[in-house]
Amino acid sequence: MEKLELLPLKDIRLDDPFWNKYTRLVTKEIIPYQWETLNDRVPDAEPSHCISNFQVAAGLKEGTFEGAVFQDTDVAKWLEAVAYSLSYEPDAALEQTADEVIELIGKAQQPDGYINTHFTILAPEHRWANLREGHELYTAGHLLEAAVAYYKVTGKDRFLNIMRRFADLICDVFHQEKYSRAVPGHQEVEIGLIKLAEVTGDRKYMDMAKDFIDRRGCEPNYLVTEHENPLWINIFKDVKPFLPAYSQCHKPVREQDTAEGHSVRATYMYCAMADLAAAYDDRELLDACKRLWDNIVEKRMYITGGIGSSGAYERFTTDYDLPNDCNYSESCASIGLALFSRRMAQITRDGKYIDTMERALYNTVLAGIAMDGKSFFYVNPLEVWPDNCLEHTSMEHVKPVRQKWFGVACCPPNIARTLASLGEYVYFRKDDCLWVNLYLSGETVLQTEDGSATVTQKTRFPFEGKTELHISSGTGHPVRLALRVPAYAEGFTVTEGGAEIPVNIRDGYAYLTGTFTDTTLTVTFAMPARIVYANPNVRADAGKAAIVKGPLVYCLEEADNGNRLAGIYLDTARPLEEAYTDSLLGGTCIIKAKGKKLSEKGWDGHTLYAAKPPVLEDTDLTFIPYCYWDNRGGGEMSVWVKYLT
Ligand SMILES: [Zn+2]
Repeated sequence: MEKLELLPLKDIRLDDPFWNKYTRLVTKEIIPYQWETLNDRVPDAEPSHCISNFQVAAGLKEGTFEGAVFQDTDVAKWLEAVAYSLSYEPDAALEQTADEVIELIGKAQQPDGYINTHFTILAPEHRWANLREGHELYTAGHLLEAAVAYYKVTGKDRFLNIMRRFADLICDVFHQEKYSRAVPGHQEVEIGLIKLAEVTGDRKYMDMAKDFIDRRGCEPNYLVTEHENPLWINIFKDVKPFLPAYSQCHKPVREQDTAEGHSVRATYMYCAMADLAAAYDDRELLDACKRLWDNIVEKRMYITGGIGSSGAYERFTTDYDLPNDCNYSESCASIGLALFSRRMAQITRDGKYIDTMERALYNTVLAGIAMDGKSFFYVNPLEVWPDNCLEHTSMEHVKPVRQKWFGVACCPPNIARTLASLGEYVYFRKDDCLWVNLYLSGETVLQTEDGSATVTQKTRFPFEGKTELHISSGTGHPVRLALRVPAYAEGFTVTEGGAEIPVNIRDGYAYLTGTFTDTTLTVTFAMPARIVYANPNVRADAGKAAIVKGPLVYCLEEADNGNRLAGIYLDTARPLEEAYTDSLLGGTCIIKAKGKKLSEKGWDGHTLYAAKPPVLEDTDLTFIPYCYWDNRGGGEMSVWVKYLT
């Protein structure tokens, strides 16, 4: 099956009023800040130890390994973000720093190609002995992704060659008899190996990834019996007996119908399954991907694109179990969902996958980072009462304000690499046809067989559903276009010089019948603010409503609506009022609504319970985009609100 291609990032220049707030932070704030954290130079932030670990493993300094077993991945994701940023903003000093880090990784590489500072420093004899918890293959996967990105952008092959040696070792080791059923405990190496195969043309890396996927969940189950190996040492002391579904090895992946276990592991595995389905023309594997995606999106996903609703074990639970205040919904899991959805759209050309990718990006992924780029959410609740987010309670994983860094810091660098590679989400291509997935301002060059065309988007999306699309083909080579029609779009039209162009809408894309060399098209659709409701099976949202506009989910914040947001009732019979304001949150569309609120008036403060209801008072409500919450000093927040009809 033929996969639509991503455009090279170097051909995409984004300049978008909505996204600039974040994408411009990548080079100016996020990458430099994360470099400081990797070097443990940010006061009051949890130390990372990342660079120090590599220095110790390389024999450049005395010391020991510190941090989580997968600490090396933070360096990998940082390097991946650096690579992407260099594609659109060359920076010689930053590239020099990255080259030095790559040399350091090379020095920490063992003679046989192995790279992992935890095992190299602390337990070299226990290499590969605990795949369930050891994260060596997970770490390898992120380093492979970074190496491929760095090679693609800079053309330098040093990092790629370092990682190719490691990948060769992985292929050798995991084809040995004793590892012939072995699979990674935390999936990710599959994605890295697939990318390495694509960039080197060496199919053996793809085959290794496919073996890992096809072995998974088959009996005898390697991860279940692995601890019988005398070299196996327990790494996570507080983890209860191994639950195969936690690592998605409860049954062969082709037979899996529901999204189970740790949500980041799951989505990274689904990404690899989708890639492999396309590479091997494997319909059975693609069908499994479709079933799993449907299960997530129809039954196990928050309206914000968050997934993994359990605070314990960061995992999927059961259909419709979507609690709002104690959920996990890790930022990385939504990034995984966006990556999986993008791959499914590339394969199927179905825009419904982009709707979900967009939902994850515009809501949970963006909420994961503060507007100054310096603090982050790992856990993404849809409802917060800061006072009850107490340690040693079932709420202790919920942080009511963003944190500067985390001991386990997978999310911040993952958000950085996602923002730095945002261009890869905007378009697909095949030959001379450009698929426009996201309406997002910027200029893009589409390389065609005998020349190139420049495509420019100008839009105020997601606050307005109107985009000017200018196509300029210097060589006169015509371009064909497929424009996404989002599920929320009303009255989708394309006009040229005021005249409507006929379009053929199929699976969420409008295929334009003509070809274009030099023209300006106007894409218009309405996306008014709307009140939406959850499936009645979602117990947590029963009797509640949420407000959305286009891809944006809105929320109430204490800063605008006072405290006790749980006592607010939205009056759904009254119209919503949209108002764009430059003065709030860097410029945004807020939504005003009418409602009522439980009052403390007349209630005896010494009385916890009484036989009369509290007074309901009229109140004006202000909703802001969920992605912007906690940028005004904390306080309560709620996406779902009780409603009156
Ligand atoms: Zn994370």
